[in-house]
Amino acid sequence: MMACQGAPNGRGTDEDDIGMGARAHFVFVPLMYQGHVIPAVDTALLLATHGALASVVATPYNAARIRPTVDSARQSGLPIRLIELPLDCAAVGLPDEADDVDRIPMDRMTNYFRALALLAGPLERHLRAHPPRPTCIVSDFCHAWTVGVAASLGVPRLSFFSMCAFCLLCQHNVERYNAYDGVADDNEPVVVPGLEKRVVVTRAQAPGFLRTPGFEELADEIERARADADGVVMNSFLEMEPEYVAGYSEARNMKVWTIGPVSLYHQHEATLAARGNTAAATVDADDCLRWLQGKEANTVLYVSFGSIVHTDPKHVVELGLGLEASGHPFIWVLKNADQYGEAVREFFRDLEERVAGRGMLIRGWAPQVLILSHPAVGGFVTHCGWNSTLEAITAGLPMVTWPHFSDQFLNEKLVVDVLGIGVSVGVKNPLAWWAEKTEIVVDRQVVEAAVRSIMDGGEEGEERRRKALALSGKARAAVQEGGSSLANLLDLIKRFEVDAGDRTTG
Ligand code: UDP
Repeated sequence: MMACQGAPNGRGTDEDDIGMGARAHFVFVPLMYQGHVIPAVDTALLLATHGALASVVATPYNAARIRPTVDSARQSGLPIRLIELPLDCAAVGLPDEADDVDRIPMDRMTNYFRALALLAGPLERHLRAHPPRPTCIVSDFCHAWTVGVAASLGVPRLSFFSMCAFCLLCQHNVERYNAYDGVADDNEPVVVPGLEKRVVVTRAQAPGFLRTPGFEELADEIERARADADGVVMNSFLEMEPEYVAGYSEARNMKVWTIGPVSLYHQHEATLAARGNTAAATVDADDCLRWLQGKEANTVLYVSFGSIVHTDPKHVVELGLGLEASGHPFIWVLKNADQYGEAVREFFRDLEERVAGRGMLIRGWAPQVLILSHPAVGGFVTHCGWNSTLEAITAGLPMVTWPHFSDQFLNEKLVVDVLGIGVSVGVKNPLAWWAEKTEIVVDRQVVEAAVRSIMDGGEEGEERRRKALALSGKARAAVQEGGSSLANLLDLIKRFEVDAGDRTTG
């Protein structure tokens, strides 16, 4: 079967009796990128843990990745369902394999969003045909088309953000107050209006979500859908950024439920290691843990740029040489390592030999949270994707920040300027992952110096680590009994419960 094809009305009939007794039914519609799917599934699992029925919508390629997690949760008794819907790639001129987001042709990204919008009809039909009726749709903020589905079913719709409130409020205020009006140069510093703290951005770093040529209509639709939502569910926690959570809630005039860090749902090695694109894993979790076993506490650096960034060859080499020169043990994850040319592959092999025992190169996918939580790990070189950032905060780790695009520059500002737990490599302009760079923006000396400053102690280094550990304590407290995130999760369920008699399909 081709990736984009599937049963016309979606799968799920074998699951019909699961969760029938639940009084709240949340239907999650994630965007099919790992950074969106992973926290949405974690949130669904959390809601199911507290008695709500959670259904997760996925297209075939992505459903295959999620299914083991959902199946094992169901085996342990959780009311969670997977709704697999076919993605009609052909209808929008995409090849069938575009269901795998890594294989969407770059010049046809808007087609992909149009294909996603075609899920509206099949989703509505599926939900009508499979009771119990949803009591709430939790839609990735990128899916403007779920507005129509929710309206037609007569149920509320919340926006799901795998982003922090700081980033959302900065971006919102820049747009709300037209802060870029009259700014000719994309690199001109602009102060974000309406904040107590002075935060400086540039249009290059924070243009607004999908505010890029060719995406105007889509970006406007998404903004309208965000403004129309009945509330916001966010993978963050209140104690980390109270003024920004309150500020965003006030600016949007809607309730914000911070329910994170959602990665803390996973208390077992096996479920943590099953998160994400494990088919691309080239080492298993046990190998990583064994490698970390002999290392002293806080000495190992973890290096990864997430699930989308494909680091260009020049920066791969600079990063590798900088890590080597730092003298610290490291685990370095390289996405799509096999796609590099022979010169880079030879560089990897030589580097591996030179740092044998001290450096571990993972080609493909790593059990990230498991690694970050290991006591031997003492720092993280990150692209500042929000999930990675929050996972590092949860683990109490200082960070070297190397943003590439999207919300990553604002996340870097939160980490470095607001929370005081990071050191920037100083990237000023977005680094598109699909375009090879002609110049070196971050060289090996910069990498080495940044790594040393988070790993080598000293007064500033210790202060950063102390702050990171304090935040980790707050993150963990937030999801425990009496914590703000757990309270929000329970409130969310309560808010969208209906009486048993009202649970028929609409
Ligand atoms: N991730 C992982 N192993 C990898 C790469 C990524 O487990 O080798 C997970 C990571 O823990 C995080 C997500 O994938 O939960 C990446 O999301 P993030 O927002 O950090 O970045 P993105 O991939 O969206 O750029």
